[in-house]
Amino acid sequence: MKTHKRTRVCISVCEKDLNALQNACERAIEWADFVELRFDCLDAEPENIAQVLSSFPRPVILTFRPSEQGGHRDVSREEREAFWKMQAARGDSIWWDVEADLVRDLSPDWSRTIVSHHDFAGVPTDLEQIYERLAQTPARVLKIAVQAKEISDCIPVFRLLDRARSDEREIIAIAMGNAGIATRILGPSRGAFLTYGALDDDSATAPGQVNARKLRSRYNIDAINDETMICGLVGLPVMSSFSPRIHNAAFASEGINGVYLPFEVRDVNSLFKRMVHPLTRELTWNLRGLSITAPHKQAVMECLDWIEPDAKEIGAVNTVVVEKKRLLGYNTDAAGLIDPLQRHLGSLADRRVAIIGAGGAARAAIWALQQHKAMVTLFARDVAKAQTLAQSFNVSCQALSSASFSGLDLVINATPLGSGEHIDQSPVTQEQLSGARLVYDLVYNPIDTRFLQEARKAGCATLGGLEMLVAQARIQFELWTGKKFKLPQIVTD
Ligand code: NAP
Repeated sequence: MKTHKRTRVCISVCEKDLNALQNACERAIEWADFVELRFDCLDAEPENIAQVLSSFPRPVILTFRPSEQGGHRDVSREEREAFWKMQAARGDSIWWDVEADLVRDLSPDWSRTIVSHHDFAGVPTDLEQIYERLAQTPARVLKIAVQAKEISDCIPVFRLLDRARSDEREIIAIAMGNAGIATRILGPSRGAFLTYGALDDDSATAPGQVNARKLRSRYNIDAINDETMICGLVGLPVMSSFSPRIHNAAFASEGINGVYLPFEVRDVNSLFKRMVHPLTRELTWNLRGLSITAPHKQAVMECLDWIEPDAKEIGAVNTVVVEKKRLLGYNTDAAGLIDPLQRHLGSLADRRVAIIGAGGAARAAIWALQQHKAMVTLFARDVAKAQTLAQSFNVSCQALSSASFSGLDLVINATPLGSGEHIDQSPVTQEQLSGARLVYDLVYNPIDTRFLQEARKAGCATLGGLEMLVAQARIQFELWTGKKFKLPQIVTD
């Protein structure tokens, strides 16, 4: 493995008053190599700001961004110019991040100047010309931040990084938004001068900014280099998934130079054509594998060269392996679902099972349980809609609202109820669950769901979705690396 210099992570701090600013800066020291003070966030410039700047143990970047360029202060061009001239008079040895429209009228220390361009509306078609205009200034570092609406918006940003590397220019190039997170995590390994991180999960100063602690601890950003094997989760949404925690912890514990990222994707066909398939992709990267989650598990099948027979029968792929010039598809959900069940119930033959929901997870669950000779009934809110699935596996389908699960061996929730925007919901009541033996929620975030709480109140044994997630991830890991992973410590914050 190549040795790699420490990646520069800059924590951006946006606070309204000096005390909060000082406190945030002190907390930032632990994870940051640079700290950006967003002066435009302060209510007014405090007189004793020099205290913060002079004694600070990390290089400081000063930013005073006007609202029309994504900042927090309505300031005229004249006020901005006056602000920077006052900073120059003070003579602090700090970095300046100055917008391109103003930088030529100032006389900064160019060796500590970042000239920046922000576009919060999308990716401009003249990105290369913007780069060229910034490169004509004497500023040491060029910064271009654009808004990614789709993951393929990362492509022009990666191209900019490649161009700057060959031009030997220092650059920060970012695709903002969740769809652009790959540029924030992989950017430094492709030559970016630094990457920005947030102080906390809820204190991002730009869309898609990742907590700086997680950049270092979860994504191991200091170890990412050109040879790092890249894997990730494709879906919508993906940001609350535990998969990055599991796979990155597994890479670390097995000593594998790999990173696993969240890829927020709307158009799965475009992703596979432009970024994934080795014969058509527009990006050079060491992509090895993808997990696929809702809503793409069926649509992705069109994008692959080979699909294992079991996944074809299930009708859903949740794992992709990039193998030389081909893409291979697998389904690890089915085996992942069974693994913890067998530990709790032993043999599944002749067990009476209810599956709630009729989406991708239900599909894998029916197939897997039938393989183990269980007797499955499907329960759906819309029976007519669920009939297609029920008929394709020859199971009966009943209305969820009038269901009673008394006497069943197993009831499985294969709906998203209990997570995300449905966090306080359960697909069924305590009364409906009463008399069932084991209740299994495929939802794993949160670990204890409303469905499981109702089941416990009804006196049922319970099983959460995390065991399945880990079990299916083990198989994915083996497909991508050829190795088995021991269960690593999964950080659950
Ligand atoms: P999906 O394809 O979107 O299917 C969701 C199903 O839930 C659909 O049939 C939908 O019904 C039904 N549903 C949604 N809201 C409902 C409501 N209010 N009442 C009743 N039914 C409702 O999603 P999926 O991929 O199957 O995933 C389902 C859940 O399983 C997700 O939470 C996912 O995270 C979890 N999962 C966990 C693991 C794991 O490893 N633990 C693996 C896979 C999936 P309609 O068809 O009527 O819309």
